[in-house]
Amino acid sequence: MTKEIPAKKAVKKVATKKVISRPAKKATAKKTTTVKKSVPKKINTKTQTIESILELIRRTSTEVPDDVAKTLMKARSQEAQNTTASYAMGIIKDNIDLAKFKSQPLCQDTGTVIFFVYHPPGFFQNNFKELIKKAVVKATEKGYLRQNSVHSLTGANAGTNLGEGHPSIHFYEHNKKDVEIKLVLKGGGCENVSTQYSLPDTALGAGRDLAGVRKVVIDAVYKAQGKGCGPGALGVCIGGDRADSAYNAKKQLLRKLDDKNSIPDLAKLEEDIVKTCNELGIGPMGFGGKTTLLSCKMTHANRVPASFFVSISYMCWAFRRQGVVLDAKKNTIKNWLY
Ligand code: SF4
Repeated sequence: MTKEIPAKKAVKKVATKKVISRPAKKATAKKTTTVKKSVPKKINTKTQTIESILELIRRTSTEVPDDVAKTLMKARSQEAQNTTASYAMGIIKDNIDLAKFKSQPLCQDTGTVIFFVYHPPGFFQNNFKELIKKAVVKATEKGYLRQNSVHSLTGANAGTNLGEGHPSIHFYEHNKKDVEIKLVLKGGGCENVSTQYSLPDTALGAGRDLAGVRKVVIDAVYKAQGKGCGPGALGVCIGGDRADSAYNAKKQLLRKLDDKNSIPDLAKLEEDIVKTCNELGIGPMGFGGKTTLLSCKMTHANRVPASFFVSISYMCWAFRRQGVVLDAKKNTIKNWLY
């Protein structure tokens, strides 16, 4: 006899049977990998130029170049210990270290801002001038430059370091594809002891020759007596008219302190002047000692027979000079010049 399964029980058995169903989408979805294309970041060359110039200003204002630091430290080691001179040189060293560490100006007088721009042919000087001005304003806002430029007739300070003739910008065309920018921040105290002589100078017994030049340059250092925040560094131009002579003297400050003049007579005279001035006993800040002058760099320019000017540009120990080469396409800083 066959045993019948009751109807209810049979239904229950069917209902408890597990049904494994896979979601249709999941089963059919294809595995795809998205490859993100890296889009090169578009560089705004104008903004980048301003940023590069801003960094040039920051570094010029807060760090002395290596050649200057090396010369100063060598001079410091030559001063007798426990003298006012060695104390003064120690303060200069501390000042340099602290300014670099804190990225703050080496001196409260951030000076006249002087740019020398070397550019390839077909360069737009006026456009570049505007970018330099924008960088100068930004550097002033950030405190890399003090609000240091005043109107010469009214004394008004725009607070931007912009004004008639400031910053001072000089352009030169060169045969390279890169733009090079050199910057000098020229302090007021040392500018005040910069000077110009007209030879012959009967009071000094200085004639129109290199012996006469030597006399007036040493006279200028002697008269400064440490004013202009010595130890100083000189740029000298023999000849030229009054204006060009002074300008060329200042341009000598672009030379590295350890270079050698390619004109043997001038090379000899440069060394002789440094040695002689350091025997005057004026010393750093005029406190006495062996370090009166760090360097003397000389050049010459043609003159008319009626004139013989000797111009002397005196730079203080806070010798702020830097330079950069800009990348030809991006205007980023490619390398530093000092
Ligand atoms: S001469 Fe130089 S160190 Fe002296 S106050 Fe001026 S910028 Fe500063």
